[in-house]
Amino acid sequence: MTKYHIGSTVEIIPNVYQITLRVTNIILIAEEELTLIDTGFRGSAPQIMSFIQRLGRSPEEITLIILTHNHLDHAGGLAELKRFAPAKVVLHKADISADESRLPYPRVIRRLLHVPPFSLFRPLVYVKPSEVDIQVEGGEVFSPLGGLQVIHTPGHTPGSISLFSPKKRLLMVGDALNNRFRVIQLPPKMVSTDLTQAVDSVKRIAQLDFDILCFGHGSPITKDASAKVQQLIRGLTI
Ligand SMILES: [Zn+2]
Repeated sequence: MTKYHIGSTVEIIPNVYQITLRVTNIILIAEEELTLIDTGFRGSAPQIMSFIQRLGRSPEEITLIILTHNHLDHAGGLAELKRFAPAKVVLHKADISADESRLPYPRVIRRLLHVPPFSLFRPLVYVKPSEVDIQVEGGEVFSPLGGLQVIHTPGHTPGSISLFSPKKRLLMVGDALNNRFRVIQLPPKMVSTDLTQAVDSVKRIAQLDFDILCFGHGSPITKDASAKVQQLIRGLTI
């Protein structure tokens, strides 16, 4: 069997793993069934599956793949994973469009994607409506982690979602926030559709009762995370 290098992985709480591939995090929840939060860049699937096998599990046990948003570094591995996993794919409806002029990227990037040679990559940078099984809008609850709530946290993209387990006091924010260089920060403006909206989203999630915070980029915070988010909000000037 081919051996893959598996990036860096960390067990955040029992049976919840963060797999980091090319600076992007994928979360694996290994309960009776397997759930993935995000899928990394295109090409990440072999390493994700290799990690699953190392746990003594099989990619065929993945029944749910929740995408925090429809960007290439989070949704790029989906197509390949779907070839091995009978999973239902979840994505917010505001990040799904058959109209390529409405992709969930800032206008400058959308324009670039219409100009050769960048236009060649356009089919690779987003998940199409036909690839999504469950379009959410926020408020839905999925079964992992004793009830995983979908919270609509737009700003980085129109359909960005966070996932909250009250039972585990664990919040996964995708790119609504990041912890690059171990500093909690808002997503970069250059790759976000609406930063004012992103701030509003962070203010809302700061009200939730959580200890553990996981990001699309950067290390998880495993203690007193909500206090750290509130501290960030107090320091914001926008
Ligand atoms: Zn990202």
